[in-house]
Amino acid sequence: MSKALTYVSTRNKQEPIDFYTAILQGIANDGGLLVPNFDLPQLSLKELMALDYPELASTVLKCFVPKDGHVLIEEACQAAYGGSLFPKEVVPVKKAGDLYIAELFQGPTAAFKDMALTLLPHLMTLSLKVKKEKRDVMILAATSGDTGKAALEGFKDVQGTSIKVFYPSDGVSAIQKQQMITQEGKNVEVIGIDGNFDDAQTAVKQAFNDASVKEVSQAHQIFLSSANSINIGRLLPQIVYYFYTYLSLVKKQEIKLHDEVDFCIPSGNFGNALAGFIAKKMGLPVHKFICSSNKNNILTDFFTSGRYDANREFYKTNAPAMDILISSNLERLVWFLSDQNGDMVNRYMTNLKENGIYEVDAAIFDQTKEHFAAGFASETEVLQAINDMYEQTGYLLDTHTATGYHVIKNYRQESADSLPVILLATASPYKFPEAVYKAVSQNEADEYDAIKKLHDLTQIEIPAPLIDLDQRDIRFKEVIKKESIVDFVKEKIMQK
Ligand SMILES: *Cc1c(COP(=O)(O)O)cnc(C)c1O
Repeated sequence: MSKALTYVSTRNKQEPIDFYTAILQGIANDGGLLVPNFDLPQLSLKELMALDYPELASTVLKCFVPKDGHVLIEEACQAAYGGSLFPKEVVPVKKAGDLYIAELFQGPTAAFKDMALTLLPHLMTLSLKVKKEKRDVMILAATSGDTGKAALEGFKDVQGTSIKVFYPSDGVSAIQKQQMITQEGKNVEVIGIDGNFDDAQTAVKQAFNDASVKEVSQAHQIFLSSANSINIGRLLPQIVYYFYTYLSLVKKQEIKLHDEVDFCIPSGNFGNALAGFIAKKMGLPVHKFICSSNKNNILTDFFTSGRYDANREFYKTNAPAMDILISSNLERLVWFLSDQNGDMVNRYMTNLKENGIYEVDAAIFDQTKEHFAAGFASETEVLQAINDMYEQTGYLLDTHTATGYHVIKNYRQESADSLPVILLATASPYKFPEAVYKAVSQNEADEYDAIKKLHDLTQIEIPAPLIDLDQRDIRFKEVIKKESIVDFVKEKIMQK
């Protein structure tokens, strides 16, 4: 196999594999994450200007896929972004005050996870086809609320696949939970766990590398894959909207082609921000990525100190999709910035596993500071930011995006940077209606009541997927212990 377009592990212990295998495998065999084993190509911004979203998506994706898959990739991008799942303008960019807000939440579940999870099932099925795979794939997904629903929608009734979603039974918003437990489809299952997102993600990663799981999978003609952003197939589609939002500002003559901008990214598992970093490596003129967090501010500490220290309290906040202490995709960033030094990444990750901490060396830390800034917002600051933005511009932020607004304001005060900032809006405000309603009205209301009152107050349209959510039948009630996730998976495989 030529080096071209193969994938290796961030921890250096996996032989190079091709694109299709990387998608199907989801995670590297050594517990690391799969990364491109080739120099990233440079895209010509000028040539991209003429493309609509599906064309732009296939142009970007084709950089990562061998020629024999290009026609299938074009079809997949059309199916995901050119049909009825998104509006014609797939990612609208709005101006609010002196900020640009890119709405990544116009898809089937009203959160940014749709940007990748509408395409991932197509990447899976085309990979099954190219590899002439006869076995069925069982997708495992851990979710902090939004990945679960988006993955369920993406994979429901897709031939040759089934999907199990694990969510923290106490750690997602009421709306997120209702969206998941009422999911339709014959091949889906939703399971609550008595732990947090990190517990779910760790258990799912364990299941992939568990010898007895591998054994029963083989016997039952099943293989496991991941719909989390540990799968490279989640990451690649997210590169596209960085180019798209930049180019739409050029088209609107807000900036000139090749001008530098900043992006602000509300971050948790760090998949979104990492996709931006890859876009920059492919030629997008980004000065800084400003990462925002909630009270779980482990990323802020990392970007200001070079130390990743997970020995800290875990908080449940009003921005639950970012309640995370193990930010998986940071491993990929460290790999890129260490000059692709898998042995070094392996040492850091061993330290993280054994001691809950690692510290990158000075050369890597210097580079993180060159590309990233970071900050966080407390729950009160989140509500304040929503209120400020609404009062000043009439734009309604959700709680996650509000962390970004808060952090941008501080960043601008503290730095000399006055470049245009594109804030990535990661969810509709109607997904977290109690908090958003409280922020703009100072009143309390239960979730469905809050949706209605928020609408009465603001006249901002409720996304179709959230209408009549309370009328739907509940299909999934099971809650299991976090220790039993691996056994649960094994049992499900044996029932196949
Ligand atoms: C998943 C999610 C995030 C965090 O994105 P990462 O790619 O995990 O960093 C932020 N906001 C919302 C609403 C999300 O669903």
